[in-house]
Amino acid sequence: MEDTLIGTPEAQCRARPGGPIFLSWPQAGLWPHVEIFWDGDETEVQTSQSPKPYPSLQSVKGASLVGKAYRISPQPNAVAIQKRVQDWIRNCDETHTDCRPVVQNFPARLLDLQGSGADGIQLVQGFASVEYVALSHRWGDKPPCATTTDNIADRMSSISWSELAETFQDAVVVTRQIGIRYLWIDCLCIIQNDILDWKKESVKMGDIYRGAYLTIAASLTSGDDDKFLRPSREREVYAATRLQVSFREEAIPDLWIRTIHDFRLHSFYGVQEPLAARGWTMQERVLSPRLLSYTSAVTFECTEAAVCECGNGLFPDPHYPPIHMLQGLDNKHAFLNLLKKGNIKTMYALWMDMVTIYTGRHLSFNSDRHVAILSIAKVLADKYGDEYIAGMWRGDLINSLCWYRDDSSPTIHLGPRQAPSWSWFSAQGRVFRQDAAVEAYCEVMSLDVQDGGINDSGPARGSITLRAQAVTMILHMNKTCQGR
Ligand SMILES: [Zn+2]
Ligand SMILES: [Zn+2]
Repeated sequence: MEDTLIGTPEAQCRARPGGPIFLSWPQAGLWPHVEIFWDGDETEVQTSQSPKPYPSLQSVKGASLVGKAYRISPQPNAVAIQKRVQDWIRNCDETHTDCRPVVQNFPARLLDLQGSGADGIQLVQGFASVEYVALSHRWGDKPPCATTTDNIADRMSSISWSELAETFQDAVVVTRQIGIRYLWIDCLCIIQNDILDWKKESVKMGDIYRGAYLTIAASLTSGDDDKFLRPSREREVYAATRLQVSFREEAIPDLWIRTIHDFRLHSFYGVQEPLAARGWTMQERVLSPRLLSYTSAVTFECTEAAVCECGNGLFPDPHYPPIHMLQGLDNKHAFLNLLKKGNIKTMYALWMDMVTIYTGRHLSFNSDRHVAILSIAKVLADKYGDEYIAGMWRGDLINSLCWYRDDSSPTIHLGPRQAPSWSWFSAQGRVFRQDAAVEAYCEVMSLDVQDGGINDSGPARGSITLRAQAVTMILHMNKTCQGR
């Protein structure tokens, strides 16, 4: 339930049973949305049975007074957070039937974290069904400690701790903490200078993330020489401040106030996630059945749950600011539910939403637009049986042609050998779907596309011929338009 305490256009104050009180007042400038809570780690605070009806909180009909939440501690690997992570995963294992890994294409190699050598780490191969954790990370500018044909024999014997890049060391620490023996990291488990091995393994990439017991996202690291189990400026944004409150001259203990923690508000508060900026990592995030993210707080998302170390939920919640205020809205939850109980119409709509998010991310090579989202398209093609054509679905082709580009992006189009101009593959920058009911006025006369399909790794080429009603228009050019 939800009760509004103050409801004016200038200020909103909401509460829910057992949770924090949310306050927002847009005129407040930098700090417009805050939450007030009792510290959930301090067990002596029993808010639900609090005998003291404090005046400003008394009017919450039927709700408990201010509820519990957790302070975001500077250290993301604090013992209390480790325990919360273990509880989330155990709860998902025991009660969520749709969150199990989907094992279709097993990786050729894994890191065994109970292996030989002083640090107990080695590369192993030839498994077909063991539980493993996968890492989603950003490579950065310096090449990571890649496995090559020169060092693979040594690594099959043992890998020393100092050989591992800092991001990978942290991934080993977390994997061991949650009690899983095997870990998959792309640049260690695929032989980077062996073209055949790379081709064989890279096409499985989507399946490897779908088959993982858990995916760890090193969201804040901009390269593999950076740790993610460390204090960060991004966590500090959500540090809580103790409130000095008294009632009838009696101090009220342990009330805290902070900026509302909701990862959808990251861009609003200036928190940038290097991992979320990359085109290639979107399918790692979307396809993983369970994702443990080390971002401005530690968060866990699966088909049925989305929880955060701060104690709040992540997904649409009436107690959070309205959806139109949020940027960077995430589609992982919507995607997993689409596979569970969606229909093809909702798939078409969600696909173009994902294209908008995807095209807002950065790809080093614009020609990768086809391959870096292909694993998601494969899963949807399997589920819905529709044909995938250069980033669009045959059953929704006419509507999909009505895309438009973000005006702020540079106007660069790929050449016809890289992508047909009518496909969003050809455009630079973020692409949006134009909502227009054009199907009734238009039909496809012919379609000839090479590559760009679900089983193609190369860029798409091709042509399309449409028949549509025509409208006569007269365009008057004025001076300011001329020459543009
Ligand atoms: Zn789950
Ligand atoms: Zn949170």
